[in-house]
Amino acid sequence: MNVPFLDLKAQNSSIASEVLPLWADILNNAAFIGGPQVQGLEEEFAAACGVKHAIALSNGTDALRFVFMALGVKPGDEIITVSNSFIATTEAISQAGGTIRFVDIDPKTYLMDPALLEAAITPKTVGIVPVHLYGQMADMDPILAIANKHGLWVVEDAAQSQLAEYKGKRSGAVGIAAATSFYPGKNLGACGEAGGVTTNDDAIAAAVRQIRDHGQAKKYYHDIEGYNGRCDAIQAAALRVKLRRLPDWNAARRSHAKRYLELLAGTPGITLPTAADYGTPVWHIFLVQVENRDAVAAYMNERGVATGLHYPLPLHQQKAYKHLNIADGTLPVTEAVAKRLLSIPMFPELSEEQIAYVAATLKEAVKQHG
Ligand SMILES: *Cc1c(COP(=O)(O)O)cnc(C)c1O
Repeated sequence: MNVPFLDLKAQNSSIASEVLPLWADILNNAAFIGGPQVQGLEEEFAAACGVKHAIALSNGTDALRFVFMALGVKPGDEIITVSNSFIATTEAISQAGGTIRFVDIDPKTYLMDPALLEAAITPKTVGIVPVHLYGQMADMDPILAIANKHGLWVVEDAAQSQLAEYKGKRSGAVGIAAATSFYPGKNLGACGEAGGVTTNDDAIAAAVRQIRDHGQAKKYYHDIEGYNGRCDAIQAAALRVKLRRLPDWNAARRSHAKRYLELLAGTPGITLPTAADYGTPVWHIFLVQVENRDAVAAYMNERGVATGLHYPLPLHQQKAYKHLNIADGTLPVTEAVAKRLLSIPMFPELSEEQIAYVAATLKEAVKQHG
């Protein structure tokens, strides 16, 4: 049996009959950038997240950077985040002019450990960026409490967590603002590049709208230099169709995760992921910890099961961040799990047979190599 890591073709064929007529309209009307599809997406995504404003953008990395710019990040400002993330989180901090500070992660959820935050705060710290990695929200209450105590803002990296919940609040509705990504492989993915910002803050929303459109508040009148960071109608139309399916797709992911957890429970050598009791995850990625991870992955790949690594090398150990001079051993949990984490297939269209095969193959792989 072959089990892909992600099957976007299956998802696309389930929405094609709805999306293609919308794309034909866009082609006929030549209304490619902005317009009613983008406005509709913004209204519907804001409602889905339970926030006042959603601003559709070119991609998730721009979304993060525009939020930091809207918050007035300036050279010397320190922003605390995690090293267990995709590099977009920290690229956006640097590109907005900020300085990256890392804290380690919780060994159970692999998300920002709030207990380590206070020690990382300096007089230069301006904000905290928890990353809701793998579809689970970080433990936001203690993070917000520490931020409030020190006068810092909290921006959520919500790229992997669309419609996940924390104590009844949706991902993207908890910090002062949040950035999400509609990269095709995300839970809510475009048919190309797109991203967005959500916020209840009118000033941040207005600033992000201005930054995405060359700093203009009115056509050809530029208050500031901005970027070309707009969302196009082709993406917005597809995203609106997919957003209506997203609750069902996320429910399917939850049901698959439950099945994996049942099938793999109690297997020696496999550490299962933990869904924290403070919320509802949307299982962007399902990962396990194993010994001899690369050999386990190779065994599974040979038997037709695709696997992934999220992420093989922590950000602070990347060449791109050599200049930060962060010694190995500084973030022990992040460094340890990066060598052990293995992502297995997780997407809504997975069949019961595929799930059983993946679980059986993983168990066999761990017996042989783990
Ligand atoms: C995908 C992703 C981003 C960046 O989104 P793009 O749309 O690819 O620019 C940012 N943060 C995290 C955690 C991501 O997974």
